[in-house]
Amino acid sequence: MSPAAARLIVPPMGVADAELALSEQLRDHTAGSVHSWDLVTGADGPGTRMTLFLAGCGMRCQYCQNPDTWRMRDGKTHTVDEVMERVTRYATIMKVTGGGLTISGGEPLLQARFVVNVFKRCKDLNIHTALDTSGLLGSRLTDDDLNYVDLTLLDIKSGLPETYRRVTGRPLQPTLDFANRLSDLGKTMWIRFVLVPGLTDDFHNVEAVARFVETLDSVQRFEVLPFHQLGRDKWAATGEPYLLADTEPPSRELIERVKRQFAAHGLPVM
Ligand code: SF4
Repeated sequence: MSPAAARLIVPPMGVADAELALSEQLRDHTAGSVHSWDLVTGADGPGTRMTLFLAGCGMRCQYCQNPDTWRMRDGKTHTVDEVMERVTRYATIMKVTGGGLTISGGEPLLQARFVVNVFKRCKDLNIHTALDTSGLLGSRLTDDDLNYVDLTLLDIKSGLPETYRRVTGRPLQPTLDFANRLSDLGKTMWIRFVLVPGLTDDFHNVEAVARFVETLDSVQRFEVLPFHQLGRDKWAATGEPYLLADTEPPSRELIERVKRQFAAHGLPVM
């Protein structure tokens, strides 16, 4: 084969080269693995927000509604520049409504450096930043990193270590350590607790969450989120057993009982 003919059958490498370049950016945290984006009002923080869902999670919560976010390799690579190009499109409405950018997941702190790089760019533009996390990997953020986080939406998925492990497959202590650090730094938190009948609703489990959260100094809001079945179909694709397939959402009475229990500890229950 002549050299000219050989050149003709070399496959076009533009796309593959771009993938290689992006993987380098992933390594140096100027790009991240993104599951999806959403524009929301009245959720994931104040005002109108863009929520960026990162791919990858090291937990396996029984009640997970987004198991399609679990694998980082299923996400699409986006650079910080690409994320910011989209964020700035909505900057005006974010500022008018007191909103901003929320980074969620999956577990965003699997890609902690990427998160910080995006948040730094947001703060340059005076855009409010919120981090939606389980806190498991809170130690990946330095105190300096936390200067770029205006609000942390912290899930405390249970208050008793054995229940927490049953719910998530992971230990409770890292989340408590992260909450204590945020409190010591005076960083604003919204605490979130998912209420699942037969799993997280036990009086002593709720009491343990309440007794811990009442020791924190910077909790602005405490949300009780009722379990629902909207994620049921996504579980089938994971190949893992969905243990809550037959669990009903909590009744109004149960929600009120648990909210009263938290309120009795002086927590700002929503
Ligand atoms: S931390 Fe969130 S994304 Fe991860 S398994 Fe739990 S609920 Fe699902």
